[in-house]
Amino acid sequence: RRKWKRVVGVLKELEESCETTVGRLRQVVDAMAVEMHAGLASEGGSKLKMLLTFVDNLPSGSEKGTCYALDLGGTNFRVLRVELGGQRSSILDQDVVRQPIPQQLMTGSSEDLFDFIASSLQQFDENAIDFEKSSIRKELGFTFSFPVKQTSVSSGILIKWTKGFAIKDMVGEEVAGALQHALDRKGLNMRVAVLVNDTVGTLALGHYHDADTVAAVIIGTGTNACYWERTDAIIKCQGLLTTSGGMVVNMEWGNFWSSHLPRTSYDIELDAESPNSNDQGFEKMISGMYLGDIVRRVILKMSQESDIFGPVSPSLSMPFSLRTPLMAVMHEDDSPELTEVARILKNVLEIPDVPLKARKLVVKVCDVVTRRAARLAAAGIVGILKKIGRDGSSGITGGRSRSDIKMRRTVVAIEGSLYTQYTMFREYLHEALHEILGEDIAQHVILKVTEDGSGVGAALLAASHSSKS
Ligand code: ADP
Repeated sequence: RRKWKRVVGVLKELEESCETTVGRLRQVVDAMAVEMHAGLASEGGSKLKMLLTFVDNLPSGSEKGTCYALDLGGTNFRVLRVELGGQRSSILDQDVVRQPIPQQLMTGSSEDLFDFIASSLQQFDENAIDFEKSSIRKELGFTFSFPVKQTSVSSGILIKWTKGFAIKDMVGEEVAGALQHALDRKGLNMRVAVLVNDTVGTLALGHYHDADTVAAVIIGTGTNACYWERTDAIIKCQGLLTTSGGMVVNMEWGNFWSSHLPRTSYDIELDAESPNSNDQGFEKMISGMYLGDIVRRVILKMSQESDIFGPVSPSLSMPFSLRTPLMAVMHEDDSPELTEVARILKNVLEIPDVPLKARKLVVKVCDVVTRRAARLAAAGIVGILKKIGRDGSSGITGGRSRSDIKMRRTVVAIEGSLYTQYTMFREYLHEALHEILGEDIAQHVILKVTEDGSGVGAALLAASHSSKS
């Protein structure tokens, strides 16, 4: 009996340290906006890198012709061909091939990697030869989802590898140039027209479909966001001029940090044991790579405090043994006996015969962890809106109330499995958005799911930055 109390105590403590009241979320909103300012004011001025992308116009919908994209950001890479009809949302045809990158190429030389990629492009192109004569030079959008210091819209230098890549001779080198050289070696008549990050592709695709789109957010394995900023607000780059007067800024928001973020002992341990401790603090509370492991750590603690989960199982002690999709299945188990929870505890975490009341606790743990993640993501989004004056708070003076202010329709493009596949996550995010903004303002803020923005968006950007137009 005393042991059961201990377990309930663990849950209670978790709930308290994960608390995200609206007041707390508003502090996170303000901190996000402040950090955005700081990151724009000077290089290294904030944990938010606020990287320039040199993307100074977004697809308008009038793009025409055939464009290609190459999407490299994980263990697979994809080649896409997109045919555009010249009218908003008229993507006529789309072709994709996905290929895994052989392990040895992820840690070999840059020439080997890019030759391999260029060969795939060549094969893809030969299959598509009927569609366009090969004498016409093709424009290629290159989505490269690693941290890059951009030097123009079509060039940039690799800052560091992540996600298991370790090609030493690439770090500090020009990324688009390396691809272009490989294309030239193969005799492919293609030009790398743009080099972008996946969030920028998502924003481009969102804007192609809906011109009120001002920002893009991805919540998948990791998390990041970008948005449209006025160039005169990008203080660290004095004299930056674009014809549009604006530019997309890649926030790298996964690295956001604020003392207002509700942090638990589990977060601290997860961070300390990670290969990138003190980095990506926001991401570690929000994204798919980590949520399951936070839950695992809480169950481990409960198991150590009592015997209701039996002896501590080896799987439960193993980092990342509980993946986020399975955590979501437990969270969303609506069977009266919580049979899915029982099955996953038994088969994945090797904890058999957990009584129903303990299974209920496990569901509650999933709920607390996901609710915090979704609400913090919502606060991050409102932080962006605040920075660009779209949260309805600017210009409130004297006797005017919030509802008197004319709020412009504001669209945020969103992608990633946490949002698209995890219903509870999505619902908590929406709920928090409404709580923070209030109904009057929130009705003008629309989250729109785009599909394959990282690839299709890059092709669109290649079209709008084509040397022909
Ligand atoms: P990417 O790797 O490009 O970010 P996704 O947006 O599909 O791709 O995100 C994958 C991540 O989302 C994985 O880390 C996984 O943990 C998580 N995930 C996938 N499906 C679900 C699901 N149904 N519920 C919760 N999380 C999921």
